Amino acid sequence: MNNALQKQRRTGPMQQVETREWWLWGFAVTVTLVLTVGIVSLTFPGNHFLRNSDWLDLREWVRGLACLVLMFDIYTVYQQLQLQRIRRELTERNQLFEVITENAADMIAVVDGTGNRLYNSPAYQKVLGYSSEELKLTSSVEQIHPEDQPRVLEAAEKAKVTGRGERLEYRMRHKDGTWRNLESVATAIPNEQGQIERLVIVNRDITDRKRAEVALAHNALHDSLTDLPNRALFLDRVRHVLALSHRHTSYKFAVLFIDLDEFKVVNDSLGHAAGDALLIQIARRLSASIRGVDTISRSVLMQTASQVANEGSLARVGGDEFTILLEDIRDCGDAIRVAERLQERLIIPFVVERQEVVIAASIGIAFCATSYTNSEDLIRDAEIAMYRAKREGKARCQVFDAEMHIVAVKRLQLETDLRRALELGEFRVHYQPIVSLQSGRIAGFEALSRWQRPEGLLSPAHFIQIAEQTGIILPMNRLLLREACLQLRAWQSEFPADPPLTMSVNITPREFAQPDLVAQIKTILSEVEIQPSSINVEITETIAMADSQRSSLVLSELKALGVHISIDDFGTGYSSLSRLQGFPVDTLKVDRSFISKIDTDGETRKIVRIIIMLAHNLGLKVVAEGAETAKQVELLKQLKCELVQGYFFARPGDHAAAQALLMNTYSLAARPLPIVAI
Ligand code: C2E
Ligand code: MG
Ligand code: MG
Repeated sequence: MNNALQKQRRTGPMQQVETREWWLWGFAVTVTLVLTVGIVSLTFPGNHFLRNSDWLDLREWVRGLACLVLMFDIYTVYQQLQLQRIRRELTERNQLFEVITENAADMIAVVDGTGNRLYNSPAYQKVLGYSSEELKLTSSVEQIHPEDQPRVLEAAEKAKVTGRGERLEYRMRHKDGTWRNLESVATAIPNEQGQIERLVIVNRDITDRKRAEVALAHNALHDSLTDLPNRALFLDRVRHVLALSHRHTSYKFAVLFIDLDEFKVVNDSLGHAAGDALLIQIARRLSASIRGVDTISRSVLMQTASQVANEGSLARVGGDEFTILLEDIRDCGDAIRVAERLQERLIIPFVVERQEVVIAASIGIAFCATSYTNSEDLIRDAEIAMYRAKREGKARCQVFDAEMHIVAVKRLQLETDLRRALELGEFRVHYQPIVSLQSGRIAGFEALSRWQRPEGLLSPAHFIQIAEQTGIILPMNRLLLREACLQLRAWQSEFPADPPLTMSVNITPREFAQPDLVAQIKTILSEVEIQPSSINVEITETIAMADSQRSSLVLSELKALGVHISIDDFGTGYSSLSRLQGFPVDTLKVDRSFISKIDTDGETRKIVRIIIMLAHNLGLKVVAEGAETAKQVELLKQLKCELVQGYFFARPGDHAAAQALLMNTYSLAARPLPIVAI
C-alpha cells in the first residue's frame, strides 16, 4: 500500500507537466530536423537526392512539410492547453493548501530529513506563541519536552520508513514557559527516487482535553468536597505499603479509621452547607496534624515508599469518616500517640457560620501484621475498632485485636442469618400482657419479637441491635405490626371489652427516621381494619429527644392518625417530664430498673411516686414495667399506677399462651389478680 502511495505521489501533477513538456520538446526537435533536412536537400546546389526523385516532386514535398508543421502546431496548442489546465489546478491546489494551513487550528509543519523546519503554519503562533521567524531559528525538537523527545524522534524515523507516522502525544513548550499537550501525525513525502526527504506533521493542541481527562481521573480518586483521596485511592496506597511490609519485615504501618461523633447533630441543627464547611475545616486540620507527625516518624530509608504513599495518608471514605495511613512507624504505640494527638487537635472548637462547634472523634487503629494480605481487611478492622471505641463511650481510640475479629465475624454471620431468617419467616411474635390494676383485667399486650432458631427461641437482646444497624428491622417490624394487628382484631372480637384490648409495638430509631413511617402504619391499620386508638406506639425518650423538632412533627402526625403514643423505658434517658410536655404523648412506661427496686429502696420509691404524680399532672397514664413480685404490684397500686407489665402476671408468650390468659380473665368473669404466670 505504501509503494502504491509513493508511486502515486511520484506521478503527481508536476510529473505530468514535465512529461508533457518533454514530449513537446521531442516533437519540436523532430519537426525541426525534418524541416532542416528537407530545406537542405531542396536548396543545396548539386544535391539531387530529392530533386531527381521521380516519386516525389517539390510541391508535394513542401505540402508534406506544411502538414507536418500544421500537425506540430495543433499538437503544441493541445499540449499547451493541457499544461495550462494542470498549472491552473496546481495553483488552485497551492492556494487551497495555503488557505487551509494558514487558517487551520491545527499546527502544520514541514521538516526535512534532518529535522530542519521548512514551513510552520501560523497556528504555531496562536498555540505556542512563536512566530514562524522565531521558529526558523530553532530546531524542530528544541521545544519538545525532554522526556518526550526520544519518543518523537523514534516516531519520525518510523514515519520515514513507512511513509505514515503513528498518532503521537507529546508536550511542547509555549513561549511563556508552560507546557502544551499536542497530538500529532506525521506523513512522509518522498522524492522522485522514492526516498523520504520531508515530513509533514499535523499537530493538534489537546491541552484542554488532557486537562479534562486529568480532572476526570482526579475526580474518580478524590472526594469532591475536601479534595482528599477517596476510598479507592486510599486502598491503593494501603495495598502498596502492604506489599512493601511483606518485602521488608521491619517496615511497619497502621491504618486509622476516624469517625466524627454526633456529626449528624451539626447537619441537623446548622444545615448541610454548614456541615460541609465544617468537614472541609476538619479535613484541613487533620491533614495539617498528620503532616507534622509524618516528618517526625518517617525514616529516610523508606523515602521512596513514603513519597508514593504521601498523598494517600489522609482520605475521606464516607460522610464523616476519614482514614489515615501511618507509615514506617516503630510500633502500635506510635499509632496510638498519633490518634490521641488528632483527638486533641480536633477538640479545639471550629467556627462555622460564626458559631463555635466542638467535634470529637472515635478512632479505630489496625496495626499491620503479616497475616494481612488484603488492604480492605485492614480498613475493615480499623473500622471495627472504631465501632468498639464508639460503643465504649466515643471520643476515644481503640486498637483492633483478634477478639474483635471474632466478634466481628460472629456479627457478620448473625447479619447473614438474620437476612435469611426474614426470608424463611423465622421471626415470631410473643405477647406480654399489660394489666389494669383497677380492674385486674388484661388491658392489652406488648408485641415482642422472638427469633425461632434450631437451638431455641432467641430474645431481642441478641438481634435487635444488629437488625437495627443493618436495616433488617424495617421489614421485620412491618411484618410484626401486621401480625400483631391481625391477632388483636381476632382477640377484640372474641373478648370484647370497654375500652377494647390494645396492642403496643416498639419503634426503633431507624424506623422512626423513615419519612413514610406514619403512612406505613396507616396502610397496615386500614388493611387489617383495626381502630388506630387500639394501637400504642412505643418510642424511647432517647429517640424522642434526639431531634425534638422532627419528633414532635412525627408524633403529631401519629396522633392525628389516631394511634396512642407511649414513652418506653422512661427514666433511662436524659430527658425530664417537662421536656416531654411538648409531645402529644399518652402513656409513660416507667423503666424496670426503677420498678425492680421499688420494694427495697425508699429513694427509688420516692422517685417513682414523683414520676407518677407528674405524669398524672400532665394527663398521662403510667405503665410500670417489669413488676416481678406481689409487693411491687401492691406498692404500684398504692401509688395509683394504672397499668403494670411484668413477670408477676405473665412472661411474654406465643399467641396460644396469651389466648389462654385472656380466657382466664375474660371468660370467667371478674377473676381476681394475680393472673397465673405462663
Ligand atoms: P421493652 O419495649 O422495654 O420491652 C419490655 C422488655 O422487658 C421485654 O423484653 C420483656 O420480656 C421484659 N420484661 C417484662 N417484664 C419483665 C420482668 O418482670 N422482668 C424482667 N426481667 N423483664 C421483663 P424483651 O422481649 O427481651 O425485649 C427487650 C426489648 O427489645 C424491648 O424492650 C424492646 O425495646 C425491644 N424489642 C422487643 N421486640 C421488639 C420488636 O419487635 N421491635 C422493636 N422495635 N423492638 C423490640
Ligand atoms: Mg416496649
Ligand atoms: Mg421498656
